[in-house]
Amino acid sequence: MNSDMESCIKIVKELKRKGTINAYVLTGAGISRASNIPTFRGEDGLWEKYNFEEVATIDAWLKNPTKIWTFYAEGIDLILNAKPNPAHESITKLQDHGFCKYIITQNIDSLHQKAGSKDVLEIHGNITRIRCMKCNEKQIYTEPPKEIPPMCKCGGMLRPDVVLFNEQLPHELINKAFDIAKKADLVFIVGTSAEVVPAATLPYISKKNGAKIIIFNKEKTEHVQIADCFIAGKCEESLPKFLNMLLNQ
Ligand SMILES: [Zn+2]
Repeated sequence: MNSDMESCIKIVKELKRKGTINAYVLTGAGISRASNIPTFRGEDGLWEKYNFEEVATIDAWLKNPTKIWTFYAEGIDLILNAKPNPAHESITKLQDHGFCKYIITQNIDSLHQKAGSKDVLEIHGNITRIRCMKCNEKQIYTEPPKEIPPMCKCGGMLRPDVVLFNEQLPHELINKAFDIAKKADLVFIVGTSAEVVPAATLPYISKKNGAKIIIFNKEKTEHVQIADCFIAGKCEESLPKFLNMLLNQ
């Protein structure tokens, strides 16, 4: 496995020479850290004051909607005000220049879309999208809810359209992600240790089907063992550097 930028560029250019690149980027919490989005279980950030299991299961939700909605309203406020960072922007440029087709993200913060990226698969949902627990109607929040818990006009309670701890991931989306993983010839893993299934499985599927794997992450992760290249460091610094070298060499 290589760990230098030159080798990374070589892999991508070689694929490009052969024809169209069929790549996807897999992202997670690490890419949004520089946009001040705390991770669920991070050491810092406002979500630390809540017990994750107490706010992220549907049973807890139904038992104490006011407490849980207070938690989510803070999260929605934070995320609505967050701005994409150079890592998100670099991925958009990779897409624009034909170096990647899809983004599969475990993040629920819309920052890829805010950065102008297309074809983003949000496999864990989106916190600013809400849905009624009774009639299933969906809405997008542009500001945090004023009443807690927020109610739908049908009388049902509204909830963010995110996947809670013990809930099933959206089938259609997951099938699409697996399909993308199977057909890919290149995978960028950015800012995630991707320990949670199915995100964890996707790179292995791609590798089995002959794809090259490039990782940009602060520290080594389990996927390093199947990687062709691993670039250590903050992805908001390493990705722009990589992009610049790729486009200007
Ligand atoms: Zn409703």
